[in-house]
Amino acid sequence: MPKAAVLLINFNATSLIPIIEKKLYQNFNLQMHQFIPNIDLTEIYSEVRDQYYSTKLLEYSLKYYNDYDKILSLTDFDLFVPVLTFVFGEAQLNGKAAVVSAHRLYPEFYGLPQNEELFLSRLIKEINHELGHTYGLRHCQNFECVMHSSSNVDEIDIKSENFCDRCKEKII
Ligand SMILES: [Zn+2]
Ligand SMILES: [Zn+2]
Repeated sequence: MPKAAVLLINFNATSLIPIIEKKLYQNFNLQMHQFIPNIDLTEIYSEVRDQYYSTKLLEYSLKYYNDYDKILSLTDFDLFVPVLTFVFGEAQLNGKAAVVSAHRLYPEFYGLPQNEELFLSRLIKEINHELGHTYGLRHCQNFECVMHSSSNVDEIDIKSENFCDRCKEKII
């Protein structure tokens, strides 16, 4: 069975890890191995933006966890790439590494009450989406498909956590 390293980088929703483990297995046939890496965050943090550079996180994960078939980093840090104000995540197209930020998935971020079910559903969608890219999937036109692109949480909430049939074929 292919192995996934899951790196918890200042990720606080650890009670959800067993569910994530189950989803990785169900959706990608991945066996999860969990790590809490000791990263030098100064290389990843931008003081000007008060955010973390997602591409550098991917590079870090590839450098130290390259033995794994897939490497998924989960973080509560707010992520960015230079051309965008923020990103929910980033992944290598047809590669190994993906990162997902939970920062903007919490309803509390928008001043709304805590809602673990909603948060979990968003998190699973983003994990499926970013990992989907590592299996070579690009953005999908199907509004229900998890590979549909989302630039805000409302767009995440509209789509399902599932891959459409065409996208699913490529994962297997
Ligand atoms: Zn995407
Ligand atoms: Zn699709």
